[in-house]
Amino acid sequence: MKKGLLVILSGPSGVGKGTIREYLMKDKNVNLQYSISMTTRSPRNGEINGKDYFFVTREEFLNALKHHKLLEHAKFVDNYYGTPKDYVEKLRNEGKNVLLEIETRGAKQVIDKMHSDDEISIFLVPPSLEELEKRIRGRKTETEDLIKKRMAKAKRELKKETFYDYIVENDTPENAANKILNIILSHIKKDETN
Ligand code: 5GP
Repeated sequence: MKKGLLVILSGPSGVGKGTIREYLMKDKNVNLQYSISMTTRSPRNGEINGKDYFFVTREEFLNALKHHKLLEHAKFVDNYYGTPKDYVEKLRNEGKNVLLEIETRGAKQVIDKMHSDDEISIFLVPPSLEELEKRIRGRKTETEDLIKKRMAKAKRELKKETFYDYIVENDTPENAANKILNIILSHIKKDETN
């Protein structure tokens, strides 16, 4: 059976990766499976363990890391985030296309290990930094201090776009999701003709 695609969706915090992920997951043509990450961050209102994230203690996270259970990981504004390796491999070996929605340092780790056409990296950028700050503030989930930290981080993250196969501007979530779906579909078609 043909191995499924690995699609890395990255970009600064607040750029809208989560919203776009929801659009992507609804599309029946690409039939993506979302890789649920592990994090030491506390759940936000409405977030569900095992659906949005696996919420773990710092000790559990470091233990998974020590036993090589993570495909990539990063510390992001005081918390750890990582992608469980076995789950992603299992899905891909079953022929399923898997979506990783991760920040830039983790994305770079996966990109550095990538060596086939079955892996695509996409960097989502905001129309402007002002727009990004408006979106982070609009979420009303972070304190002023955390907003400042996330904005400072975003400025650094935006310089990383050269690592990626594709750069997509999130002008509106529908447009950006459609652009990404077309990228994925063109890879699936290319694979079928090879
Ligand atoms: P948030 O706290 O807003 O849910 O996530 C913070 C950042 O961590 C976001 O940019 C999000 O995409 C990223 N992230 C979520 N899961 C992972 C993961 O497994 N690995 C990495 N490297 N980043 C992640």
